Amino acid sequence: MTHRHLPLALAAAFLPACFAQSAPAPAEKPITAIPYSPSLDLADMDRTADPCVDFYQYVCGGWMKNNPIPPDQAAWDVYAKLSDENRQFLWAILEEDAKLGKRTPAQQRVGDYYAACMDTDAINARGIAPLQPELDRIAALQDRQQLAAFLRDGANQRGLYFLGAGAEPDPKNAGMMIVGVEVGGLGLPDRDYYTKTDAKSQDTRQHYVAYMAHLLVLAGEPQAQADQDAAATMKIETALATASLTRVERRDPYKTYHPMKIDAVDAMIPSLELGAYLNQEHVPAAVLANVDVAQPKFLEALQTELATEPLDSIKAYLRIHALNAASASLSSNFEDARFDFYSKYMRGVPQMPARWKRCEGQIDRALGEALGQEFVARTFSPDTKQKVLVMTQQIEQSMQQEIENLDWMSPATKQAAVAKLHLVYNKIGYPDKWRDYSMLAIERNDYFGNVMRAHAFEEKRNWAKVGKPVDKNDWYMSPPTVNAYYDPSMNTINFPAGVLQPPLYDSKEDDAPNYGDTGGTIGHELTHGFDDEGRQFDGQGNLRDWWTPADARGFEDRINCQRDQYANYVIVDDIHINSKLTSGEDVADLGGTLLAYLAWKKQTAGMSLESKDGFTPDQRFFIGYAQWACENNRPENLRVSAVTNPHSPGKYRVNGIVSDLPQFQQAFACKAGQPMVSAKACKIW
Ligand SMILES: [Zn+2]
Repeated sequence: MTHRHLPLALAAAFLPACFAQSAPAPAEKPITAIPYSPSLDLADMDRTADPCVDFYQYVCGGWMKNNPIPPDQAAWDVYAKLSDENRQFLWAILEEDAKLGKRTPAQQRVGDYYAACMDTDAINARGIAPLQPELDRIAALQDRQQLAAFLRDGANQRGLYFLGAGAEPDPKNAGMMIVGVEVGGLGLPDRDYYTKTDAKSQDTRQHYVAYMAHLLVLAGEPQAQADQDAAATMKIETALATASLTRVERRDPYKTYHPMKIDAVDAMIPSLELGAYLNQEHVPAAVLANVDVAQPKFLEALQTELATEPLDSIKAYLRIHALNAASASLSSNFEDARFDFYSKYMRGVPQMPARWKRCEGQIDRALGEALGQEFVARTFSPDTKQKVLVMTQQIEQSMQQEIENLDWMSPATKQAAVAKLHLVYNKIGYPDKWRDYSMLAIERNDYFGNVMRAHAFEEKRNWAKVGKPVDKNDWYMSPPTVNAYYDPSMNTINFPAGVLQPPLYDSKEDDAPNYGDTGGTIGHELTHGFDDEGRQFDGQGNLRDWWTPADARGFEDRINCQRDQYANYVIVDDIHINSKLTSGEDVADLGGTLLAYLAWKKQTAGMSLESKDGFTPDQRFFIGYAQWACENNRPENLRVSAVTNPHSPGKYRVNGIVSDLPQFQQAFACKAGQPMVSAKACKIW
């Protein structure tokens, strides 16, 4: 999946564990209306800057000055600010749902999950007790046979230790869901943290080992033993990291596609008994003949670890990973430890988010479509849905014209590209059919149990998909989410209601800023179907090469122009953008902005558009487009982003794009030689 923004679910994995040790910022309160900010805001600008020298400063200088990063955030941007406002809006709903009385089943689940999560006295009184049974089972393991049984039994209801497995569309037959086996097992955000030798990476590893030892001490282990166990775990994780593909390698879908029979998987990693595990999950036998192993080398390395590391080391690993996974759901000392490492040290966040915010985030993940129904009913109008649908169709038409006019592509490839374009499935706002949570029991006095039951519910829901046709109406984001995504295996673009509000989509504004902003996002997601990764899938979502070799070379030449351009940009200190990691997003930004511009021109053809606030209509299109990207970021967080985030920083998502667009340069009368006029003028779509 490729997103307009760093997906919240991923961000949340490293921004966990808040506790009410810090008072909420004064501005935060439950709200019943989301504050309005226009999609083109003059106050966000810095009109002393020269748009042809630094357009980002010109459109976002005021925003950056007026929107310092709140103490509980790693970064702050237009999307994050709107997300935070959505959260305060949802907070009011949660408070209401938590009141006992006449409630719908959905309101009971949401309200009781919230009430249980907010009861920190009860949570702190229980301490580590909820996790103790699992820790005891690990402690009781006496040999490798018992270890295999423990791993196979899915003792950890969150899924497997060491790796991830679940349903995925078959890359070669995308209509059907099969079993995919993914890598996992690491506590640091990327495999590169284990392999890089610079001073900062070494320091990060030392802090991580200290964090792991701290978790064990909190669980009752003596410090000396905990240090030894943390070191043993680090050794195992380093072996797994070394055998894992880099993020750039993983962008090649052929490198992560290895279909095999389950017997072959079991032969590769007999210590895991994956076949027996899948049987327990009721995966149909026919499906087991075609399991997609993303990284066979990783499984081989894992087998070596499971077979040769001392049993005590493996048990230490299991204890630490059980504690780490549960730390956000245990008493405050565990949450503090987790926050101090992942948020404070790794990302420079000074203060934990308030408890209600952490609870809201959990409910969004556990019961997102139950809470989301209430959000949609209160915020999302059929008018917006209709307008966005029309905009999407116009942008698709612009893309078709662009494809047909390309001077470097053969008619055969053009025809295949247009065929794929016509099969894109648009999802706007919320699911046609809401998820059924009736099998998920939520209890008002059992917080940890709720967390585990919600995980188990998701696991079960996921395994129920295998062996069945793909359900294109399944969403991977909840309706209030301020984000969007393209899914190459389903060939769908997905816009939750949360991203279709001011200041991103603004029904009070005219077309120019709306086509710039929301149109740009639609164009961005659509272009993902034709970026370096997405172009390798056809309209059905199958991994299939529909390009002539010459056209594929033509594409690569053009994308390399943009990779060279972005490799020059500095993220923080001396760290440059890894433009092979970001190129899919950079292509989507460039194509998306142009497609939105062309669609806007068509939409307004024949109308006499007026200047406003001293800006021409074309200038207002580009200002509206760029203001989505205004941001402030902590240097520590930028360092993590440089390794893990496939998106370039906001500054380059604006300046990098406009410097390639002649339409922008005409609008602001920029001259050759100025920074916002790239001599190369890269263009892909
Ligand atoms: Zn994207």
